[in-house]
Amino acid sequence: MDWEALRGQFHLPKGVIYLDGNSLGPMPRAVPVRVGDVMEEWADLLIRGWNEGDGGGGWMGWPGRIGDRIARLIGAAEGTVTVGDTLSIRVYQAVASALHLAGPERAVVLSDEGNFPSDLYMAEGLVSTLGRGELRVVPPEAVMDALTEEVSVLMLTQVDYRTGRMHDMAALDRAAKAKGIVTVWDLAHSAGAHEVDVTAAGADFAVGCTYKYLNAGPGAPAFIYVRPELQDRVRPALAGWLGHARPFAFELGYAPGEGIDRMRVGTPPVLQLAALDAALDVWDAVDMGQLRARSLALSGRFASAVAARCPTLTPALAPDVPRGSQVSLRHPEGYAIVQALIARGVIGDFRAPDILRFGFTPLFLSEADVDAAVAHLAEVMEREEYAQDRFRTRRAVT
Ligand SMILES: *Cc1c(COP(=O)(O)O)cnc(C)c1O
Repeated sequence: MDWEALRGQFHLPKGVIYLDGNSLGPMPRAVPVRVGDVMEEWADLLIRGWNEGDGGGGWMGWPGRIGDRIARLIGAAEGTVTVGDTLSIRVYQAVASALHLAGPERAVVLSDEGNFPSDLYMAEGLVSTLGRGELRVVPPEAVMDALTEEVSVLMLTQVDYRTGRMHDMAALDRAAKAKGIVTVWDLAHSAGAHEVDVTAAGADFAVGCTYKYLNAGPGAPAFIYVRPELQDRVRPALAGWLGHARPFAFELGYAPGEGIDRMRVGTPPVLQLAALDAALDVWDAVDMGQLRARSLALSGRFASAVAARCPTLTPALAPDVPRGSQVSLRHPEGYAIVQALIARGVIGDFRAPDILRFGFTPLFLSEADVDAAVAHLAEVMEREEYAQDRFRTRRAVT
C-alpha cells in the first residue's frame, strides 16, 4: 500500500505530530470540498435535496448507503449497518433491543471496568428505567467466567479506551452464545483501527463512532450493526418516524421498517454525513490486514523506544496482552507531561487518573514521526519540563 499517498490525503498542521487520531481523527482534504458541495445543494435544491440531492440519489437514503461503506470495514454484509445519532444513543438502542430479545426471565447486563463511562451510564440508566435487572461490571480478565445463565446481555467495548487492551471478540461471543446471551460490541476503538469481522464473530449488535479512526469530524454520527438473522425480530427501542415502515404515510401507530432501516431514528445529519462519506473515500485504498500490521509496527516501535529511554513511564499493559492501535503509559504527572508534549507539537491525550494515551494510525503517521515523538518525550522527562505550573492547570477536555 502507498502510505505516502494516504498521508497526502489528510490536512496535517505544520509542526504537529498527531498521536490523537484515536480521539478525533484529522481532517481528510476531501471533506471540506464535499461538505461545500452539499451546502450548495442545500442552497439550490432546498427541500428537494431529500429526493434529488447527492447528484440525484437524494439525501434521505444516506444512512443506509454510507452504512454499507462502514460495513466493509467491520466485516458486515450489505444492508446491516445504518448511521446517525451519537454513540451513546446507539449504545442505549442496542442494549435495550438486546434486553428485549433476551426475554423477561433474565436481566443482567454484563460489562467490564475497562468500558467507557457513557456505555456504562447508558446501561445503568436503562436498567433503572426498566425497573428490573442490574448492570454487573467485572474486571476485563473476569468477563469469560462471569458469563453465567443469569446474564442476558454482554456489552463490551472491544478495545479499552484507556489501556488499549483488546478483547477476543470471537471467543467471548462464542462463549456468550453458548449461554444464550445476546451480545453488544462497541467498536469505537476498533473500526478503522484493526480488522474486525462481526459476521465471523457472530456479534448480535455492534456500534461505533466515526470521528475517531474514521476521521469524519467532531460530532460525526455513530453507526449500528444488527446481525441479519435478527433484523426483523429486533424492537428498535427508539421508535422514531424514520424507522417506521412508511414514514411519509404519517400513520398514528408505529410499525417498524424493514431490516436495518428500523434502527433509524430521526432526520439524518446531512452535513456530517457528507463529511463522513468523503472521509470514507480514504478507506477505499486500505487493506485492513496491512493497516493492522503497520499499526502494530509503529506502536511497537514507540513502546520499545519509550521503555529504553523513559524508565519512569510504566506501560499500562503487559507486553503479551493483545492491544488495539494505541500505547498507554502511566505516570502520576501524566496530565502535565502530555501538556508539555503538546507545547512541543506532539499531541496525545490524558485519561484520569494517570494515563498518557498515544494513538498510532499508519494512515498519516510514519516511523520518523514515532522517533521524533519519542525524542520529545524523553526530553520532557529528562528536563522535568512537566514540573512547570502552566502544564498543571487542568482544562475542560483532557
Ligand atoms: C468515544 C466513545 C464514546 C463517546 O460517545 P458519544 O456519544 O459519541 O459522545 C462512547 N463509547 C466509547 C467506547 C467511546 O470510545
